[in-house]
Amino acid sequence: MDDAEGARVTALAESLMRRIAATGPLTVADYMAECLLHPDHGYYSTRDPFGVQGDFTTAPEISQMFGELAGLCLAGAWLDQGRPPAVTLAEPGPGRGTLMADILRATRGVPGFHDAVRVHLVEASATLRARQRETLARHEVSWADSLDDLPEAPLFLIANEFFDALPIRQFVRDPAGWRERVVGLVDGALGFGLAPPAPQAALAHRLADTRPGDIVEICPAAAPAMAAIAGRIARHGGAAVIVDYGGWHSLGDTLQALSRHGRADPLAAPGLADLTAHVDFEALARAAPGVAVGPLIPQGLWLERLGIKVRAQTLARGLTGAALDAHVAAHRRLTHPDEMGTLFKCLALHPIHTPLPPGFA
Ligand code: SAH
Repeated sequence: MDDAEGARVTALAESLMRRIAATGPLTVADYMAECLLHPDHGYYSTRDPFGVQGDFTTAPEISQMFGELAGLCLAGAWLDQGRPPAVTLAEPGPGRGTLMADILRATRGVPGFHDAVRVHLVEASATLRARQRETLARHEVSWADSLDDLPEAPLFLIANEFFDALPIRQFVRDPAGWRERVVGLVDGALGFGLAPPAPQAALAHRLADTRPGDIVEICPAAAPAMAAIAGRIARHGGAAVIVDYGGWHSLGDTLQALSRHGRADPLAAPGLADLTAHVDFEALARAAPGVAVGPLIPQGLWLERLGIKVRAQTLARGLTGAALDAHVAAHRRLTHPDEMGTLFKCLALHPIHTPLPPGFA
């Protein structure tokens, strides 16, 4: 952490502590939103966090194969649906723009696809938008603030590690209801506390499978995002592929901070560490009425069914030495159960009565 970063953490931590002293504790979601997207001090607002030099790396940054195969999946779904003209190709949370660049490169040979698609990126960070503009300089791209702003048209969408960045609220089951986990002041520093017990209508369905002391998380921004995606697919056609780490029907505290590729204390350096939570894919599926939702499958299986083995062998032919070793390691990292292969899951949405997108059947 250099001096400028130290000054920044002090500024965001101090401003949060002043706010808490004046108006009371923050929900975990409010805290996460400030840490990630505060216009001056937010994690994504102030930096490009990806890669070896950054705090974490993502599948498209590990290997071009991820975006290439994702592109073939989306273009395959477009072909299966009769090659509709004038469709949206969208990605929320595109990071450096690498995934979309790989998708576009891999689908150049699909006749008619590039003429049909208009690329729309949904990105909250001005810093990362600038980075995406550089990566995708050769393509015509529009940016939107919200999935609600996407055109009313067939929608072919991929989201990789987008939903895990959306703020979550946490609730602890209590004999008298639910107590929300909050961020308050403890001995003059940021600390976790619990709000008084209250009923939570949104958690009524979790009374049967939880006991006092259990923590349940909800992601308030996920349902409107899913409604925007599913609504377009139901009305106009298309397909969505959501890739993230998490599970079905999640339970427990999954809030985590990452800094320099290691776990950090989520309250220690607001704005300087990435904050994420596991994605509850069941909650995403429940928020997508009117469309078919495919089975939740591991990332490794999806990539294998899309042909990563053959693609990896083709790419390996041009490589030797350290570059070949890195390529083999990247293939393993994306697919192996000990790495990202089973931790990351894939979920597909598609119109009722259309085939599952490639890789899901
Ligand atoms: N998909 C990319 C990056 C994932 S990191 C990859 O796989 O490499 C999360 C991304 O979501 C970043 O681009 C971040 O700025 C963006 N983001 C976070 N919250 C957002 C929000 N509420 N709306 C739009 N974009 C958001």
